Amino acid sequence: MAKLSRFLKIYTGAIILVFILVFLQSLSQLYLPTLMAKIVDIGIVQGDTNYILRIGFFMLIIAAGGVISTIAASFLSAKIGSGFGKNVREQVFSRVESFTLHEFDKIGTASLITRSTNDITQVERVLMLILRIMISAPMMGIGGIIMAVSKDLKLSLIIVIVIPIISIVIIYIAKKGMPLFKAIQIKLDKLNLVSREGLTGIRVIRAFNRINHEQRRFDEANTDLTNTAIKINQIMAAVMPIMMLIMNFATIAIIWFGGIRIDDGSMQVGDMMAFIQYIMLIMFSLIMVSMMFVMVPRASASAVRINEVLDTIPEINDSQQPKNPTTQRGFIEFKKVTFSYHGAEKPALSNISFSARPGEMTAIIGGTGSGKSTLISLIPRFYDISSGKILIEGVNVHEIPQKSLRAKIGLVPQKSVLFTGTISENIRFGKDDASDNEVLHAAKTAQAIEFISKMPDGFASVIAQGGNNLSGGQKQRLAIARALVRKPDIYIFDDSFSALDFKTDAKLRQMLKEETKNSTVLIVAQRISTIMDADQIIVLDQGEIVGIGKHKDLLNTCEVYREIVSSQLSEEELA
Ligand code: ADP
Repeated sequence: MAKLSRFLKIYTGAIILVFILVFLQSLSQLYLPTLMAKIVDIGIVQGDTNYILRIGFFMLIIAAGGVISTIAASFLSAKIGSGFGKNVREQVFSRVESFTLHEFDKIGTASLITRSTNDITQVERVLMLILRIMISAPMMGIGGIIMAVSKDLKLSLIIVIVIPIISIVIIYIAKKGMPLFKAIQIKLDKLNLVSREGLTGIRVIRAFNRINHEQRRFDEANTDLTNTAIKINQIMAAVMPIMMLIMNFATIAIIWFGGIRIDDGSMQVGDMMAFIQYIMLIMFSLIMVSMMFVMVPRASASAVRINEVLDTIPEINDSQQPKNPTTQRGFIEFKKVTFSYHGAEKPALSNISFSARPGEMTAIIGGTGSGKSTLISLIPRFYDISSGKILIEGVNVHEIPQKSLRAKIGLVPQKSVLFTGTISENIRFGKDDASDNEVLHAAKTAQAIEFISKMPDGFASVIAQGGNNLSGGQKQRLAIARALVRKPDIYIFDDSFSALDFKTDAKLRQMLKEETKNSTVLIVAQRISTIMDADQIIVLDQGEIVGIGKHKDLLNTCEVYREIVSSQLSEEELA
């Protein structure tokens, strides 16, 4: 909680105002019973109508003041609470966006979602409660006791009996509830995880007839969460009736003993009525405190989880002395680069040295798991390398601000990720301010225009979540158009032509050649035909470069390359 409190700094003024308003509200609540006692004991007993009207009018004003303060305090605390929630969510989101892939793996996507939604809501709710209760509960509790004692000392013995009973109930409830509250957030994570997998993997689940299995998994997580929630609600539900019971017994006791005292003339009727109200105030303040006991543990469990996200420092940070490369547009150089994933036994890449020049196409080929995607993910600095150097336009990637580094790159990932929105919005993802002509041109080059024009709304057609209403090849072409529209210095195609038919692949590559003639192009490919005419082919095997050169040379010098080629091309094609 403590760390999150820095988000409250900007609301200091508003918080003080809430406190003042709550103070006024509590004051009016404490004063009203005394006025009422006066009306009864003086006005009614003496039959003084004027007095009743005068005090009654005064009571109305005080009550109205109390009501206005209450409304204003609720309004303000709601504003503070939701503003706080918004700011924390914003921070959590931007922190998560700066995470490297490694940090994503550590906390898990499902948990990150719960943390940035439900957990923040929990904290927000408690914050609003605290703002309202922090001042009013002690004031009403202590003020109520003082007022009650001042009305009748002997009758106040009832308070001495009631408070310990209520305290025992509260402590019992807090003890029972706290572990449950901590557990419920974790169970919520689990449910989120199962439903995410169930929804995103629906095709696979259907194809393998695992619907029942998934349903069972979901039921388990759901029942687990439900049972905990029921237990918590049982406890919460018990609070009110128990408190009411104690309160009503206390009232009976006051009327009973108060009646005796009125009988022997040591107490007045109005005072007894006021006394009952003060006891109520005291008990209400205790109920509020007990609610805090119930809600704070859950919120503090949530706060810990939020802080965990905020405290995670991304491994990759911008250098203190950033340099912006200017010359050698798009020139990439790897110098003895070695890289290992966290926890991996051996490096995914070792001792990689090569350079890729603008105006040239550098192809990377190799078996699955040979490190092709890994190599490419190092250029936008998705991961930091263990040793060696990666230079972009002569400057170490560590020294280039991530934003300007990535602005240079047009990446087409292996798995085409699209976003909900129209086709043109998805293409403009590459360049916000692209003109309609630029979007059209990119789509044409990417061979996407044909299927886009067949869609009912053309470029304004809506893409479903994850691009589910498009075929694999269509998604790939849009992803290519998205990279093309940027006109970047460096193009990276990570196995981006795999879902295209041969004809489209050939046409696309021809158009690309013209489009990318001034840029550095890196292509990861499985098909030899895609890369045969590259200016330079890098052959990877188990994270090492085993051959580098042109197709013809590699055929003679590189055994691994020859194997890949002969597995794909016939003897005639080879010749
Ligand atoms: P390719 O693209 O050539 O198929 P990759 O670059 O994807 O190969 O993978 C190279 C090696 O790194 C593989 O052995 C793979 O298991 C490992 N690897 C890939 N991604 C990760 C990751 N996020 N965490 C740990 N190991 C990984």
